[in-house]
Amino acid sequence: MKELLECKHFINGQWINAQTTEQQAITNPSTGETISWSPLNGNKDVDDAVSSAAKAFEEWRDTPVTKRAQIMYRYKQLLEKNIDELSRLVTLEHGKNVIEARGSVGRGIEVVDLACSLPAVFKGETLHNVGGGVDYETRRFPLGVCAGITPFNFPAMIPLWMFPIAITCGNTFVLKPSPQTPLTSIRLVELLDEAGLPKGVINVVHGGKEAVDALLEHPQVQAVSFVGSTPIAKYIYQTGTNAGKRVQSAGGAKNYALLTQDAPVKETVDALIASAFGSAGERCMAMSIVIGTDDVIDKFLPHIRNAAAELTVGPTFGDETPDMGPVISQEHLERIQNYITSGIEQGAKLILDGRKHDIINPSNGFFIGPSIFDHVKPNMRIAQEEIFGPVLCVMRVADFDAAMEQINTSPYGNAAVIFTNNGACAREFRNRAQCGMIGVNVGVPAPMGLFPFSGWNDSFFGDLHVQGREGIDFYTKKKVVLNRWF
Ligand code: NAD
Repeated sequence: MKELLECKHFINGQWINAQTTEQQAITNPSTGETISWSPLNGNKDVDDAVSSAAKAFEEWRDTPVTKRAQIMYRYKQLLEKNIDELSRLVTLEHGKNVIEARGSVGRGIEVVDLACSLPAVFKGETLHNVGGGVDYETRRFPLGVCAGITPFNFPAMIPLWMFPIAITCGNTFVLKPSPQTPLTSIRLVELLDEAGLPKGVINVVHGGKEAVDALLEHPQVQAVSFVGSTPIAKYIYQTGTNAGKRVQSAGGAKNYALLTQDAPVKETVDALIASAFGSAGERCMAMSIVIGTDDVIDKFLPHIRNAAAELTVGPTFGDETPDMGPVISQEHLERIQNYITSGIEQGAKLILDGRKHDIINPSNGFFIGPSIFDHVKPNMRIAQEEIFGPVLCVMRVADFDAAMEQINTSPYGNAAVIFTNNGACAREFRNRAQCGMIGVNVGVPAPMGLFPFSGWNDSFFGDLHVQGREGIDFYTKKKVVLNRWF
């Protein structure tokens, strides 16, 4: 752990110090203590990492896919063996409780499962005797050096969305984790190294915008996978594609949950509470707006409010598993508090104030309890902007059509869910919601690794999403071969 907390780059199979003294504190959000320093490096380290990946690509591309997948089998075993340690690291640097952290590592391992099965899906297509003795076939080829840029909120799961598939497809990889939560990435890569990956196939460089820009500008980087906030996602997509790279770029979200009168109360409330306040609301799949007609809201809201008021909030270190841990930083805490002030000023009714919530043993951590606003109007900032914290907005509308219209005014398009017992309503919702991930009686409709994580609109820029077959398509290019023998 001591060694780990040093936060080094991983280049050409070696853990090395950054060539810079500029650094950013990595904080345990439960205590406010600095646990390490994340280097903010310049072009030099990025260039070394990309060169190492480019060199490794020459052999790795020709390593049989079955052999590449064997490394992933060993990696999966190592991840499972070390899941407790990985989960505690996620908790240490992000603050979500260890149960949520473990769940998130498990979701990442699902993508490694997909990578293990890659030889089966990697096969091309053939069409025998198309005419004149000609046979057609398609073959997949890796792209070369791929880069991954990840956000703070899922330090294990999101890097695992990217590099296991990229590498098993025959690419080499440079990971640039969030400077706020880079320690889990380091451990993930240590374990991949232990699984027997040749040196240079995976590399890690730390840093902020300057490291990202160096990757986007580097002529040897062929593809960029990004997950983070919408303004940066848009920037990455535009800059990367302008430089001729393949880019998949996932952004922020503002997700709606539509309730109907006949939805089962307990199951709906439990799912909504977990969705809105799990991981302290720092999830791109969190349902942050509940929408429904007056009668439905009046029926459900007292239950939602009571359940939220009972959530325990406090530090998540050791074996402590409060329902909600801290948010990521003091700055983010203040941002959330400002949104609460703005909601009040713009006339929404604060029916649960997270600023007054009891915090168990708060020390100097970044804590805020769950907040709920009723009577939120579409023009309010709390309705329009991603808060990324434990603040649930409630909107009242005239009918189902008005709810659909409101949901579809959102510039985002990550997810939307409906809670109902009415199949026709569910079907209509599924068809009309302009979002890429839909839940029917599911609070967090995050797809497992076999399916694409398919945000729309301002929640995603690009064509091929992470995970599933789209993930494989993103990291490969196809060649069509026409064979004729005389
Ligand atoms: P962020 O956009 O601030 O940072 C993401 C990454 O981009 C980090 O590695 C960071 O170092 C880098 N970065 C930051 N500013 C940059 C700049 N100006 N130029 C180039 N690179 C820059 O996001 P965050 O705060 O770490 O994460 C939270 C956001 O991520 C939320 O908006 C959340 O919705 C989103 N998110 C989306 C998904 C999804 O699948 N759509 C999943 C998780 C998180």
